[in-house]
Amino acid sequence: MSFSDLGLSAKLLRAVTARGYTEPTPIQNQAIPAILAGRDVMAGAQTGTGKTAAFTLPLLQRLSQSGQQASARSPQPRALVLTPTRELAAQVGESVSAYGQYLPLRALQIFGGVGMGPQITALRRGVDILVATPGRLLDHVGQGNLDLGHVELLVLDEADRMLDMGFMPAIRRVLKLLPARRQNLLFSATYSRDIEQLATGLLNDPLRIEV
Ligand code: AMP
Repeated sequence: MSFSDLGLSAKLLRAVTARGYTEPTPIQNQAIPAILAGRDVMAGAQTGTGKTAAFTLPLLQRLSQSGQQASARSPQPRALVLTPTRELAAQVGESVSAYGQYLPLRALQIFGGVGMGPQITALRRGVDILVATPGRLLDHVGQGNLDLGHVELLVLDEADRMLDMGFMPAIRRVLKLLPARRQNLLFSATYSRDIEQLATGLLNDPLRIEV
């Protein structure tokens, strides 16, 4: 398989080439076509497998196809990526920016441990893809800085680590704020009863991928 066989647009293929990738990793081969087709996905994948590009590339394509043009960027996020740590949020945010460099979509990272002010200013400018840690995300929602009612696509990245860190109640609160009709992607390095329970409540007929 090559990246061009996976159904990605020319602009995304350009970004992939700019990144120096020549062929998709196994998780990218399986996840990208399914996500492009609108399916929910549950993927067991460690860091280093290429999991970030596996959800970021099709996410960018889905958003760029659904409605909004450059002149009418979203005031509120249409994709939400939840991560356990600020480091991972920063890393995923960097990937979103790199792969989306030729698309008119705005990405923003929101995490704790830094001031709210600059994040509030950035949110006011509008955002298509929000990458966030759960606690700080809820702080912004509580202050009325953010409306999650337009999210079409949700990603839980390193879901097992989020549960280990005690984020289950926060994730449940976030889920209640999202539209019922949306696409859900769950990535986890390990499976536990808690992950399975979360997946059962979250995912609709998911494609299960193990790499
Ligand atoms: P991840 O598993 O998302 O943390 O990615 C691990 C590393 O693999 C990152 O440095 C990526 O830039 C890199 N990577 C992702 N996809 C590919 C690919 N198809 N070919 C080569 N490197 C890749």
